[in-house]
Amino acid sequence: MKRWIGGALILLMIGVLVLRGREADDRFERQIYSMGTLVTLTLRAPDRSPEALAALVSEVESELNRYQQRWSVRGSGALAQLNATLEESTTVPVPATLLPLLRKAKTVAEDSAGTFDPGLGRLVQVWGFDDAEHFRDAPPDRAVLTVAKRLPHRLTETTLQDGRLQAEKPGLMLDFGAIAKGAAVGAALDVLKQAGIEHAMVNAGGDLQVIGHAEGRPWRIAVRHPRPPADAPRLLVGIELQDGEAVFTSGDYERYFEFEGRRYHHLLDPRSGEPATGAQSSTVIHDDPALADALATALFVGGVEQFDALVDQFALEFAMLVDAEGRVHATAGFMDRADWLADVEFAPDADAQ
Ligand code: AMP
Ligand code: MG
Repeated sequence: MKRWIGGALILLMIGVLVLRGREADDRFERQIYSMGTLVTLTLRAPDRSPEALAALVSEVESELNRYQQRWSVRGSGALAQLNATLEESTTVPVPATLLPLLRKAKTVAEDSAGTFDPGLGRLVQVWGFDDAEHFRDAPPDRAVLTVAKRLPHRLTETTLQDGRLQAEKPGLMLDFGAIAKGAAVGAALDVLKQAGIEHAMVNAGGDLQVIGHAEGRPWRIAVRHPRPPADAPRLLVGIELQDGEAVFTSGDYERYFEFEGRRYHHLLDPRSGEPATGAQSSTVIHDDPALADALATALFVGGVEQFDALVDQFALEFAMLVDAEGRVHATAGFMDRADWLADVEFAPDADAQ
């Protein structure tokens, strides 16, 4: 009898493994290098042939590359050309490919109380964060920084009318690094949706959006821990996502150098022209991936001081901030969904917001 039960159990376990294997087989996964990061496409489309899936992947890849080209500060793309014109003049026609995201970015800049502004391209360049291959090993020369701060560096101080952008002085340089990845992830997912795919995730280095679900369950993702303890997983919190949700995180661990014991990172406060000091990371869940991206950056720069005001201003249901001391601040909606994967210290008001 015992033997029989043992045998049945083994069969059952094999059955579960086989079933799991089948489920895993339904999952199609490919990685693409684009937008300066590894983009993972995961989708479920068991009825598609390998050739059809390969064609789809290359369509997504082309779309991502179009975004990369269009929104690069360097090179010959549309934004780089617009910046070249702004160097010498105050007015520039905005090409149709740039207009919708420029409008959205300008609105966020105007509503985000000085925390998000893609006008700070020159400052990003002076700090050396525009070149992911070569970071500085010391802050820029004070005199160079002072000159850059005097140049126009705010999209909020421009007007956008009849497809023309007008700055107050020449020298403005736009950098969409804090919002373009969101738009690109959304566009990649649109390619999949238009091809009739119903269940997919596009994950660009931890910033992602999903549609549908994963094997009959919601997609589950994890947000990176900004200061993972030694020998522990690098994950802070797990979240299950609903159809259409995007999750974007800004962190001071993405691009930085250390000098005399201080970390200098790529998230600049447009008001000071220096790296923001109020946070280690920030996460936003939103149905609009470009907004999720831009607002994660805004929350980071705003820190604890502006967290509540920004959450209210943009009616954010799901947002989290890890402050400079490593304490977690989060909206009630985020707290309800959070599955903490590390020991975290909550700010006293974390669930009262
Ligand atoms: P993200 O990783 O989405 O937070 O975007 C960071 C990138 O956006 C940086 O590498 C800069 O190119 C740019 N950036 C930095 N600070 C800001 C800011 N306060 N507002 C808008 N863009 C920024
Ligand atoms: Mg961002």
